[in-house]
Amino acid sequence: MINRILRSPNDLNADEIRALYAGFDVPITVEDCGEKCAPHNPSGKAFCCDICEAVPAAYKSEWDILHKKTKLWHLYRGDECDSRPHIQDSRSNDNLPSSMIPLACLGPSACERENRLLSCRQFPFFPYVTSDYEFLGLAYDWAFEEKCWVISNLGQVTDAYKEAFISTYEQLFALFQDEFDSYAIKSEEMREAFIQDGRKIPILHRDGSYRFISPKSERIYSVDESQFPHFGVYK
Ligand code: SF4
Ligand code: SF4
Repeated sequence: MINRILRSPNDLNADEIRALYAGFDVPITVEDCGEKCAPHNPSGKAFCCDICEAVPAAYKSEWDILHKKTKLWHLYRGDECDSRPHIQDSRSNDNLPSSMIPLACLGPSACERENRLLSCRQFPFFPYVTSDYEFLGLAYDWAFEEKCWVISNLGQVTDAYKEAFISTYEQLFALFQDEFDSYAIKSEEMREAFIQDGRKIPILHRDGSYRFISPKSERIYSVDESQFPHFGVYK
């Protein structure tokens, strides 16, 4: 229980970050999803662990703790991707909330599970927030539909992972209104993108069920996991 006044996640201390990490340390699927996607990446790395594909974002409080504890992370310079220097993506510099900074790790062959960022643990999901400010469940980062195997296999996401995800973000949202607001904005962006594409948003609902949401009316439909779409090489 945190009983200090905190203004942002950057006020979290080492024990509080460790507690968040400990509560969000569950494999996303029973199978190693990295083995499912890496063969489809020319670099041979899991897409979310390839700096050429995604730049991890950290709360400054995470960086404060991790850079003293491990050599795994360094501040993102922009030249880490040999094939595409100075990439930008939805998790890097310009689009980041002011509480976050971009980092780079030593790569999947050097990954230290206990020292993964919250952004590593949440990928490919983010907390979906309705226009009337309800944290409904897990939505995925649609920019990775063609790359991430999990997005094409939402029924494989374990109940334990979903519970840990929801519990982690409930804790953060209870403390930091700005965090909630930033995901409300991202959810709105997803609704706009899916309205343009004329498709429904797949959601892993917080009650454990599978849903589609109409992005325009926000009507919610119960679905079977087999109705969720598959993308790219995972069709
Ligand atoms: S979360 Fe997606 S991109 Fe990351 S290792 Fe798993 S399947 Fe690959
Ligand atoms: S720390 Fe591990 S999980 Fe996170 S991006 Fe690096 S290799 Fe991937």
